[in-house]
Amino acid sequence: MSVEMIPFNRPHLSGKELHNIAEAHRNGVLAGDGVFTRMCHEWLEKRAGCPRALLTHSCTAALEMAALLLDIAPGDEVIMPSFTFVSTANAFVLRGAVPVFVDIRADTLNLDETLLEAAVTPKTKAIVPVHYAGVACDMDGILEVARRHGLAVVEDAAQGIDALYKGRPLGGIGTLGSYSFHETKNLISGEGGALLVNDPAYVARAEILRDKGTDRSRFLRGEVDKYTWCDLGSSFLPGEMTAAFLWAQFEHADIIMGQRTELWHHYHVALKPLEDSGLLRRPIIPSECYHNGHMYYVVVAEGVDRAAVIQALKADGVQCVFHYVPLHSAPAGQRLGRVAADMCRTDDLSGRVLRLPMWIGLTRDQQDRVVDRLRDAILRARRPQ
Ligand SMILES: *Cc1c(COP(=O)(O)O)cnc(C)c1O
Repeated sequence: MSVEMIPFNRPHLSGKELHNIAEAHRNGVLAGDGVFTRMCHEWLEKRAGCPRALLTHSCTAALEMAALLLDIAPGDEVIMPSFTFVSTANAFVLRGAVPVFVDIRADTLNLDETLLEAAVTPKTKAIVPVHYAGVACDMDGILEVARRHGLAVVEDAAQGIDALYKGRPLGGIGTLGSYSFHETKNLISGEGGALLVNDPAYVARAEILRDKGTDRSRFLRGEVDKYTWCDLGSSFLPGEMTAAFLWAQFEHADIIMGQRTELWHHYHVALKPLEDSGLLRRPIIPSECYHNGHMYYVVVAEGVDRAAVIQALKADGVQCVFHYVPLHSAPAGQRLGRVAADMCRTDDLSGRVLRLPMWIGLTRDQQDRVVDRLRDAILRARRPQ
């Protein structure tokens, strides 16, 4: 008899998604900017405390909009962590910029704000902090360097919706911010994202870039009597069916965040003995951060063969996964970017991160089984020192 496999992720549905899509269909508006899109925008603006939020096809698209809005041009430099998803860099590389990678902090695995100053050059245009696992970067430190050098700050808050830094919502703190609604995130629409325009100076142009370079948004609000081609642009807006689906998730956001946070805490307590035995370390949450239960990861101890742990867990019916291959060591990262300085923490920690199954519906028994199997797998995968 084979054991039931515990998957790494399972998309959660609130139950109202299809109902909302049927309503969008009945409304007879299936292109973007219908009632569901408007409700999603207003919800995000309230939640993130920003003057304008715009739905996009993905967080990737929102980051691409950010690069366009900031007029990023060939030769510009953009500072970011290497321990991140490819889109953080690609969005700026598409405009001809060079990603400059800085090392991460040992506690949160977020970019180390104390290394920023030394990474700034006359070509630097922006800093892109990534809030890993929905745990905030040190935004005060980052904003201070940005202010001193006149740089924009674009938050990659793909994983950060509803998480806080000193009481402020992630994504709503920098010049611009971005969320992802990919099916692996907390709130989902399959593919989806949003740009948060926190600096009001960028609002008008963001609306134009998103809508094929036209002032159609102003036309729809009755502010102009026809719309026309005004600027660069593309089609960044999703259709109403995506927004209708997403609205069903937004309506349940508090329940979803609550359930994920409970799962997170159950792991955190259950894994304490493994940390005490020196097999791994658990996530460290700085006191100024309030996280959203997006992810539970562990850092396995030095000398543990992570690939062997993943294999052993798989054989035991538990799907655990590693995370980013650092961008500075990837083929495109080597060709298109550069490192600011030594990347020893990124190189070390990225090789030891292991993410545990985390999805709504995961039972306490299943979580305990994950922890139990993990202990065995790590004990068996310790290399002789
Ligand atoms: C998921 C993710 C993205 C990409 O989001 P998409 O919506 O899939 O484009 C970008 N950055 C980070 C840190 C992510 O976790």
